[in-house]
Amino acid sequence: MIAELLKGDCSDLLGKKVNVKGWVRTRRGNKNIAFIALNDGSIIHNIQIVVDVATFNNDDLLKRITTGACISVNGLLVESAGKGQAYEIQADDIIIYGEADPEKYPLQKKGHSLEFLREIAHLRPRTNTFGAVLRIRHALSFAIHKYFNDNGFYYLHTPIITGSDCEGAGAMFRVTTLDLDNIPRKKDGSVDFSKDFFGKETNLTVSGQLEAELGAMSLSNVYTFGPTFRAENSNTARHLSEFWMIEPEMAFFEINDNMDLAEDFLKYLVSYILEKCIDDLEFLQKMYDKKLLERLNFVVENQFERLTYTKAIEILEMSGEKFEFPVSWGVDLQSEHERYLVEKHFHKPVILTDYPKDIKAFYMKLNDDDKTVRALDVLFPKIGEIIGGSQREEDYNKLSKRIEEMSIDPNDVWWYLETRKFGTAPHSGFGLGFERLMLFITGMGNIRDVIPFPRAPMNAEF
Ligand code: ATP
Ligand code: MN
Repeated sequence: MIAELLKGDCSDLLGKKVNVKGWVRTRRGNKNIAFIALNDGSIIHNIQIVVDVATFNNDDLLKRITTGACISVNGLLVESAGKGQAYEIQADDIIIYGEADPEKYPLQKKGHSLEFLREIAHLRPRTNTFGAVLRIRHALSFAIHKYFNDNGFYYLHTPIITGSDCEGAGAMFRVTTLDLDNIPRKKDGSVDFSKDFFGKETNLTVSGQLEAELGAMSLSNVYTFGPTFRAENSNTARHLSEFWMIEPEMAFFEINDNMDLAEDFLKYLVSYILEKCIDDLEFLQKMYDKKLLERLNFVVENQFERLTYTKAIEILEMSGEKFEFPVSWGVDLQSEHERYLVEKHFHKPVILTDYPKDIKAFYMKLNDDDKTVRALDVLFPKIGEIIGGSQREEDYNKLSKRIEEMSIDPNDVWWYLETRKFGTAPHSGFGLGFERLMLFITGMGNIRDVIPFPRAPMNAEF
């Protein structure tokens, strides 16, 4: 791997034969000498391959080594005389695995637009930008599992196909094997789902939370980390139809414990990437976001501001700011409001709590005022809401009442309600959108550029 040669000290290999394999970024040179920049995706940097044209004595092969071609190189690792790299390889022999026709290979020049790269998502991982994004994505996934594992949480796999449509987080994608040209119907004309694969209506999950709560009521601390799906027609730079979500759920946690965990978790993840992926971050900073490292360090170093929704509304009303959506107590906050609080008022991440019950889900714990629930949202610079969570209602009667008020069919959630009937306990949890965190950490502007193969309205290629 090229990373092993370019990361840290490899002086023990100096003067020895090495082999590298990868894709050619560029080939330049003259009659006497050729320089090939080779990249295998293990690290952002290329290794320089130097070919002495006369001794190599194979012009035909050299000509076929063009941008995008895949090659294997045997040669001597030496200190580089040129600037920009410590080591280079003097090639003895080269095998071409696959050529890339210069007339046709789409990644010829540098500096393609991100929009264009989305159209060639099958090749864009070969660019510096997507190499960096995908390596960070990997490191972040790993850090999430590491954090929870080190802190006594168990990874719970919640189902992707769900039979309940009251997860309450957005419009769902139907899962069916019914013949669309010949739909079975009941006498009243409605679709007869008893003939469908599962004998009932099923959808792709929008959240693993309800099942994660079942896990917390037995294993104490659990988390899910899996794909979730929303069939909302929101064509924004912050929404995907398929995205990954991290949802920890903890028995015996009240709202303050939940906030402490959310803050500690986010700071851990950002520090982890600052430590492990600094080369990739520096590249992204240079190319896309001059303030990236400053912002990341800022989140790690500052205490998040905590206040209630009610207090936040007061601040917004007093701000004198002209918002597109006017604010008053009871409205759901838009990202313009969230960003005002974070970027203009507090200048640090903010955790809002105690939202009006009418704009939050049925399972959130009701406060004594009977008007607000123990919800929490974590708001970040540039992103707005990055985490949504709450302390859950553990009281059977109160929860049943909320379910009734919100016209949810209790038969759909009988199993969920039973946790409140048998050995109920205070508990809390939250959901972190993985790609929202990726946006924050990479400084990229569009959520479609932080997932390998984005799914969005009218877009399911690759
Ligand atoms: P928003 O108001 O931004 O649409 P939401 O209120 O629908 O978010 P939740 O249902 O609370 O979000 O989902 C939990 C987390 O999942 C959010 O805090 C966010 O980080 C992320 N998230 C929600 N919807 C999407 C989406 N369509 N694409 C990517 N991430 C999302
Ligand atoms: Mn939403």
